[in-house]
Amino acid sequence: MRFSGFKVIKEALMGHKGWGPQWRNPEPKPHYDIIIIGGGGHGLATAYYLAKEFGQKNIAVLEKGWIGGGNVGRNTTIIRSNYLLDGNEPFYEFSLKLWEGLEQDFNYNAMVSQRGILNLVHSDGQRDAFIRRGNGMILNGADAEYLTAEQIRAECPFLNFDDARFPIKGGLAQRRGGTVRHDAVAWGYARGADQHGVDIIQNCEVTGLRIENGVCKGVETSRGFIGANKVGSCVAGSSSRIMAHANIRLPIESHVLQAFVSEGLKPVIPGVITFGAGHFYVSQSDKGGLVFGGDLDGYNTYAQRGNLPTVEDVCESGMAIMPMIGRARLLRMWGGVMDMSMDGSPIIDKTHIDGLYFNGGWCYGGFKATPASGWCYAHLLAKDEPHEVATAYRLDRFQRGHLIDEKGMGAQPNLH
Ligand SMILES: Cc1cc2nc3c(=O)[nH]c(=O)nc-3n(C[C@H](O)[C@H](O)[C@H](O)COP(=O)(O)OP(=O)(O)OC[C@H]3O[C@@H](n4cnc5c(N)ncnc54)[C@H](O)[C@@H]3O)c2cc1C
Repeated sequence: MRFSGFKVIKEALMGHKGWGPQWRNPEPKPHYDIIIIGGGGHGLATAYYLAKEFGQKNIAVLEKGWIGGGNVGRNTTIIRSNYLLDGNEPFYEFSLKLWEGLEQDFNYNAMVSQRGILNLVHSDGQRDAFIRRGNGMILNGADAEYLTAEQIRAECPFLNFDDARFPIKGGLAQRRGGTVRHDAVAWGYARGADQHGVDIIQNCEVTGLRIENGVCKGVETSRGFIGANKVGSCVAGSSSRIMAHANIRLPIESHVLQAFVSEGLKPVIPGVITFGAGHFYVSQSDKGGLVFGGDLDGYNTYAQRGNLPTVEDVCESGMAIMPMIGRARLLRMWGGVMDMSMDGSPIIDKTHIDGLYFNGGWCYGGFKATPASGWCYAHLLAKDEPHEVATAYRLDRFQRGHLIDEKGMGAQPNLH
């Protein structure tokens, strides 16, 4: 079934009886060419591009819960490509370009909204660092614009300009950044992958990896053994648990990050705004809720819920830049488990075990990476070579000392 304006009108007139399930619910086959562990955004995007762009057939995505139940459906929906370093910026710009054509590509309304992102500046040193980053972005083909405090006041009069503890001195804007409805991304990729013949198997937990003579032969699951020529792990916060089955110790810690949604308000925030003197970011959903978040809870955990001190900390930061947020009631909050690598940048690589591949280390920045991560991981799985924008994301870079330590915009483990 293809979605179109005509179909929506027809269904409205026919009482919405013609919508079918968006993907099949197949039984696992005994063997696949490629198995992706994890039906989050990255796993589903990988399967989609493997089938659509790289001509692979006989693919399964194994998900222990349900599609969209992981971080892909828990994040604060921000997309951007405002990185500094060469190892990162071309990758995230590639991702932003894929977002720009994604809905037409997989024929699904993911509510991609390029409403812009603004990083506030509160000191002279920060201004210099942000302008440097903006120049780095422009050199890599992305868009960046430095705004003065007056320009920001004209666009965002609700920010605290008059008696702020950390005065707003300007900001770095990326107009092509914005938000995307997160769970629709999972559904769109799931539907697209299914249409290309990928088996999406929910409620199927991978409990082990079968490795014989240095070769990965398949996965042990809650529904029995499933063989595969290639196995790709793509499980975000559970990365260290999956790779422990292969005795691989990753340079990754799992942390919980919380997200918050207020009651619906009239449109007030034009795009995404981030606070430069603390950790706080906010946007407004199409339903009117303020969607915001801040720091990680400061301990390692696999639990998908956080604690009250971080709630207080996030709300304090919110009050520091936009005191009006104090009058909005909090409607919902939740947590997700994230995979923080030790330089704050991701990994898309083969392992030393034949047929076993790894994708992870996205921490709190992986949603915006979903299309490029899927594309580059599919490239690696199909061709056994890294995609040109993902060549820096090697697993051994921590041994070689070639870290991609993106100060300013990456997830920085040294801060947590
Ligand atoms: C609160 C919060 C806010 C965030 N905000 C942003 C943001 O604004 N912008 C941004 O770019 N990023 C953000 N992120 C980060 C982003 O959401 C993640 O980096 C990204 O979603 C991770 O990739 P994924 O979608 O594949 O992960 P997930 O959706 O978590 O997918 C992994 C899947 O693997 C499954 N799995 C785990 N173990 C097994 C197993 N043994 N067998 C089978 N399946 C298994 C899980 O059930 C899960 O569905 C945020 C994250 C959180 C938690």
